[in-house]
Amino acid sequence: MTGGFDASGRERGGQVNLQTETVPLFSCIIGGERVAADALIDVIDPADGGLIARVPAGGPAQIDAAVKAARAAFDGGAWSRLTAVERGRLLLRLADVVSGHARDLAEWEARDTGKPIRQARADIAAAARYFEFYGSAADKVHGDTIPFLNGYQVQTIHEPFGVTGHIIPWNYPAQMVGRSCAPALAMGNAVVLKPAEEACLTPVRIAELAYEVGFPDGAINVVTGYGHEAGAALAAHAGVDFLSFTGSPEVGVLVQKAAADNHIGCTLELGGKSPQIVFADADLDAAVPVLMNAIVQNGGQTCSAGSRALVQRGVFDTVVARLREGFAGLTAAPWHEDGDLGPLISRAQKERVEAFIAAGGTDTAPLIARGRVSPSASPDGCFVAPAVFGPVAEDDPLAREEVFGPVLSVIPFDDEADAVRIANDTEYGLVAAVWTTDGGRQMRVAKALRCGQVFLNGYGAGGGIELPFGGVRKSGHGREKGMAALHEFSQIKTVVLNHG
Ligand code: NAP
Ligand code: MG
Repeated sequence: MTGGFDASGRERGGQVNLQTETVPLFSCIIGGERVAADALIDVIDPADGGLIARVPAGGPAQIDAAVKAARAAFDGGAWSRLTAVERGRLLLRLADVVSGHARDLAEWEARDTGKPIRQARADIAAAARYFEFYGSAADKVHGDTIPFLNGYQVQTIHEPFGVTGHIIPWNYPAQMVGRSCAPALAMGNAVVLKPAEEACLTPVRIAELAYEVGFPDGAINVVTGYGHEAGAALAAHAGVDFLSFTGSPEVGVLVQKAAADNHIGCTLELGGKSPQIVFADADLDAAVPVLMNAIVQNGGQTCSAGSRALVQRGVFDTVVARLREGFAGLTAAPWHEDGDLGPLISRAQKERVEAFIAAGGTDTAPLIARGRVSPSASPDGCFVAPAVFGPVAEDDPLAREEVFGPVLSVIPFDDEADAVRIANDTEYGLVAAVWTTDGGRQMRVAKALRCGQVFLNGYGAGGGIELPFGGVRKSGHGREKGMAALHEFSQIKTVVLNHG
């Protein structure tokens, strides 16, 4: 693997040579420089508990330096002088270089998160695509001219906030950098990113690549560290003008309160209990593999995982029989074996998910089937065999709580009204799917569902860079992805000219 920062003799780092015993040391990236912290965090391979790298345990001091570097970039620095098309070109160059380093980045992503290597490759391709999409869009956000009183001319300008803070989770680190930071950069903000301590290697590496392709100093800053230290310091920093958070509802509330204290806005993306509704007239050959993939992908550690399968009674037994066979054939394996899923991110997450599984198997949530863990998997790894339960009662925890693991709950329903009622009977509202060949019903149900995204005869857990995405209620607010994100990371200024 290759590493390094630039060719000009600044400290090189991030080098990875998996053939040697060197444990790579990553840095914070602040103002275009690699920066250390007083303490280090061990980066653990969830497949075997081994040490794969170390990152700085950044805290308030590094966050303060990063916010100041971003401020300098935004207020008069080289970054602030770029035109929209120039910002776009830099993002397109970053897309190219991320694609050019896809092999290294995918391996890092797989080792850091445990995910199967094909998923990691898809994630790096998606990260590059985010930079491509927003690089192409940077110069295409136009204001309006507004009819007003005689003698006036009114126009709107979409302006960046200034310094945007981005706190992202461990489940899709590279994709999250693209999803959260690329639209903010396209609009001209300078960003400070706090990746999750459990998976932050590709975010650091992507920031290094950004400087290699010529981003001005301070445009992109990354502070690795613990959430309660670096994350809390970023959320509370008075120099931040807008916050973007993806993670748990509990921390999302803290971030929103911190934003309120500083009179700034935030987007929150907090997970879900997303339903896939299968009507009796659905194409089951198409639906069942998608039901499985939507909860097995990334070990179910996806905010938009399809964790509830709502199945009409007429086909319930047929769908359950197919899921029984399908789940029994699933294998959790180390990333390089490219199984159906990898280990979960950490021991804590494994224990949390296994507690949900152990609490199932009751009258209100009978076990239908479990997959297996590969015999080659290390006993020190965080592997969990996937599980499917059903018929799950509507008030069982498996029907209501976000497990964030490879656990599917199958819930029967009677008719269209019953399906909509159960689908909406959740604190969350992120994504849903409707499987039916009845065209009228497709649109009726899509309109009745309380969530941010509905797929008809398909499901895209985490997919679709072009597609506006976000939640309602406990799933959060604000929209990421697509052109919508460019509006989230900018604000409208209305200019009123009295020309007489
Ligand atoms: P989390 O604690 O909310 O972590 C998300 C991010 O917030 C991480 O970067 C984390 O840093 C940071 N953070 C933690 N405490 C903070 C604080 N007090 N102030 C500011 N930032 C803080 O989520 P998690 O522990 O990784 O996962 C817990 C649950 O969250 C999961 O089981 C799942 O239900 C949900 N989740 C949802 C998504 C999603 O995509 N919506 C993704 C991941 C998790 P550190 O991790 O470094 O502490
Ligand atoms: Mg965490």
